[in-house]
Amino acid sequence: MIPIARPVLGEEEINAVREVLQSGQLAQGPKVKEFEEKFAEYVGTRYAVAVSNGTAALQLALIAMGVRPGDEVITSPLSFFASASSILLVGAKPVFVDVEERTYNMDPEKVRKAITPKTKAIMVVHLHGHPADMDPILEVAKEESIPVLEDAAQAHGAEYKGKKTGSLADAAAFSFYATKNMTTGEGGIVTTNSEEIAEMVSLLRHHGQTSRYVHEYLGYNMRMTEFQAAIGLVQLKKLDANNERRRKIARRYSEELSDLEDLVLPIEEPWAKHSWHLYAIRTEGSKRGPLLEKLRKLGVDARPTYPMPLHKQPIIGRLGDERRNFLAKIFPAISYSEVSLPIAERLTDELFYIPVHHNLSDEEVSKVVDSVKKALS
Ligand SMILES: *Cc1c(COP(=O)(O)O)cnc(C)c1O
Repeated sequence: MIPIARPVLGEEEINAVREVLQSGQLAQGPKVKEFEEKFAEYVGTRYAVAVSNGTAALQLALIAMGVRPGDEVITSPLSFFASASSILLVGAKPVFVDVEERTYNMDPEKVRKAITPKTKAIMVVHLHGHPADMDPILEVAKEESIPVLEDAAQAHGAEYKGKKTGSLADAAAFSFYATKNMTTGEGGIVTTNSEEIAEMVSLLRHHGQTSRYVHEYLGYNMRMTEFQAAIGLVQLKKLDANNERRRKIARRYSEELSDLEDLVLPIEEPWAKHSWHLYAIRTEGSKRGPLLEKLRKLGVDARPTYPMPLHKQPIIGRLGDERRNFLAKIFPAISYSEVSLPIAERLTDELFYIPVHHNLSDEEVSKVVDSVKKALS
């Protein structure tokens, strides 16, 4: 089976980890610092603060940006659950706005309409690695003095109008989970140009500690280890070449599958550079199931997108349930039953992924193309 993701690390990563293990410095230390400096330089921000995973990066960035219980944060309903849970774990309410048909990212016009006096942040998701249309969102955010956070967990190396994702707003969160464009196994980082946000995230990831065993803030233990950072340093060096490989594969798919009537292929806006975290194809809801079944029989691990948009997730409908939500008491009665986001709802029935990761061989890419053609004929 040609897998949807295949994390392959090389000798260089193995040696880097061995070095750390032999050094005796395992917890956050000089490798983490070096990784932060290199990552900030790559993205083009003044600061980068490494944490334990991408969800922690989102959560700590939200707190550092000033989001508090009872506040509202606008985000996309078409994303991984962490885009909503990170907001909920801060005690704030995710307000979902529908996405655009072209990029599957939040529709800037709908962001504008969703702003209320309680809106304390806008979390933009660059879904599949295609950047969201930032300028109109940043414009309305500026008018309303609302900070903007990028969920760049799928967008390492992507660009918007020539600028790297992660450098476009007040702060950004990346994930280095095993299947992302670059990995540290588990890991995350916050990038920002704000000294205040960077400092607060650094404090919050380390128990709010200001000097040894003195805690002036309520924080977490969400640090990155030295061996994760050592892997990250090697992976970062490979990122551009790996993204180029993804780009080449995506181009082949877009050329060779373009004639197939039943498929809507992913686009790349003229202002965008896609990171091709996922190659997402759209087909009619009733056709997707049988098509994926055929593809899997042919040896291609094609997968449907998220089973439901975030406002339809079971826990989102039961936020008042004390057994399921330990924060139930601090939430005002939030109900999403009236929320209707027709584009996101339809897309969760229609989108699916074919493998586009950088470890695919040319033969595998050919096999994916042939299999899609065969499955549709
Ligand atoms: C992977 C991902 C996250 C969460 O990152 P973790 O490192 O798994 O916590 C958040 N948002 C999006 C869009 C993701 O794809």
